[in-house]
Amino acid sequence: MTTAVTLERVSCVFGHGEGAVRAVDGVDLTIEAGEFYTLLGPSGSGKTTCLRMIGGFTLPTAGRILIGGEDVTQRPPYARPVNTVFQDYALFPHMNIRDNVAYALMVRKVPKSERERRADELLALVELAGVGDRRPGQLSGGQRQRVALARALISQPQVLLLDEPLGALDLKLREQMQSELKALQRRLGITFLFITHDQHEALSMSDRIGVFNAGRLEQVGTPQQVYNAPATRFVAQFVGAANVLDGDAARRLTGHAAAMLRPERIRVGGSTGAKALGTVTEVQYFGAFTRVRVDVDGCTLQADLPDTPSERAPSAGRTVYLHWDAQAVHALGGGGA
Ligand code: ADP
Ligand code: MG
Repeated sequence: MTTAVTLERVSCVFGHGEGAVRAVDGVDLTIEAGEFYTLLGPSGSGKTTCLRMIGGFTLPTAGRILIGGEDVTQRPPYARPVNTVFQDYALFPHMNIRDNVAYALMVRKVPKSERERRADELLALVELAGVGDRRPGQLSGGQRQRVALARALISQPQVLLLDEPLGALDLKLREQMQSELKALQRRLGITFLFITHDQHEALSMSDRIGVFNAGRLEQVGTPQQVYNAPATRFVAQFVGAANVLDGDAARRLTGHAAAMLRPERIRVGGSTGAKALGTVTEVQYFGAFTRVRVDVDGCTLQADLPDTPSERAPSAGRTVYLHWDAQAVHALGGGGA
């Protein structure tokens, strides 16, 4: 496999002295050609800065950036084989959709008939054939998002950078666009670098996820690796719900100094083979499952139980036996932090 994007010890510091912000802190990263790679992290963790440095909109204060094996660290945005879809779409309101999509070709003085043909092809690709003559204001949020995608694709980038492109859409539409975007990426075979703070989005769309925290990559792995074998307790707690156990409770319940146990791996059952006995303190109904908090000798375990008839769901105050398989326990390194 060839490498699409490489970051070598890349840092970006904003400002100087006391008020300096180390937005990206010595990041090494490799994205393979054709990969759907997601940077996942909380707001302010440095995702956008990372993407802007790859796009050429922000210069790193240290390190090197390679695209397709070529050092592009000092190149301006237009001289890099990448394009960006921003969260706010940034469409030109007074231009019709076809011209918005064809904008990059217009700048390059591609003849009108040729650029209109290519714009219409891309509009068909994102299932918007026939809206070319309309203005952005006449389209829905989801449609504008697709126009932004078509516009970014028209210059045939090697890598498409997407900064929370679905963030402005409501849940239903976002889920629909997630699967459409993933399907489009597979069909085109273009490398996608996708940014999100939404763990579900990252888990469901990505080939690999890089989990970002405070300017650093905490872990890179497949969605399964990141979810089932988090490298740090930050990853364990940011990606999905987690019971993170420390100290005495960890040793007693898991045999490790620190460990993670996903709530959906805990079951309620009889006394035989039980791993713990505790008292239900809280019950929350979520439809597909019921979230139960259980106090086990002063330590709270959260269990997500599959939806069962309400007369059988544990209620607050009840004593319950908790079960889990040994493989459900994931040891976490280190203490503290
Ligand atoms: P994310 O996209 O993960 O929310 P950002 O990359 O936007 O994070 O921001 C990372 C950090 O860098 C934040 O503390 C943010 O305030 C700071 N930052 C981002 N851009 C600038 C800038 N142009 N000037 C100063 N600080 C900035
Ligand atoms: Mg951002």
